[in-house]
Amino acid sequence: MSRILVVEDERHLAEGLRFNLEAEGYEVEVAETGEAALERLKPEAGAPLDLMVLDVMLPGKDGFTVMSEVRQAGQYIPTLMLTARGHPGDVLQGFAAGTDDYLTKPFDLPILVARIRGLLRRKEWLRLPQGSPAKAPKDTYAFDGKTVDFDLLELRVRGQVYPLTLMEANVLRYLIQHENQPVPRKKMLEEVWELHEDTDTRAIDNFIVRLRKYIEDDPSRPRHLLTLRGVGYRFVAEPK
Ligand code: CA
Repeated sequence: MSRILVVEDERHLAEGLRFNLEAEGYEVEVAETGEAALERLKPEAGAPLDLMVLDVMLPGKDGFTVMSEVRQAGQYIPTLMLTARGHPGDVLQGFAAGTDDYLTKPFDLPILVARIRGLLRRKEWLRLPQGSPAKAPKDTYAFDGKTVDFDLLELRVRGQVYPLTLMEANVLRYLIQHENQPVPRKKMLEEVWELHEDTDTRAIDNFIVRLRKYIEDDPSRPRHLLTLRGVGYRFVAEPK
């Protein structure tokens, strides 16, 4: 059974989420502040958590700060951020802070549940034994002296280990599956994030910038994750 941490200070909303998620069969814990969430996320604080629903507007540390601190602490719990309507910049800021997905408030509960299922499913998908889904790479993928471990969600480059978020791993996997092919941003949004509405495709660029920091010797002159102007990206495993 998956255990979900809901970080939300509005008590009626937090309890509504708890009620509905428990009805879906999830274990739910609520933290009312960012500080309480950070405490709960420490490995010794309790049973391991499978997913976090994180509101942006919190007293004290806001959701962006919490997200950044969680990632900086090397914790890669799948996270769905709740952003405010009418603040499209929040989405980009959320992705930059390290969230895996987002939902705009107010939201329909069935959509929230579907997004949570999606994140947990992708987590499972990443952990399937090699060869299960068609065209899925092995649990590890090596290129140009680097190894991506999709099972452990980490990237190993010359003895350095970089933990990846679930979405970073999914983006990388998607580009690897389309090696040498141009991949339009919109197609990535649809197939990696399952976003079909008119979403700002610049969200993807944040992921590419982060992945380049790990993968490229010189991130300002990428050789593996190439920008195709006006189109999207192309992954090249072994540059000439
Ligand atoms: Ca709030």
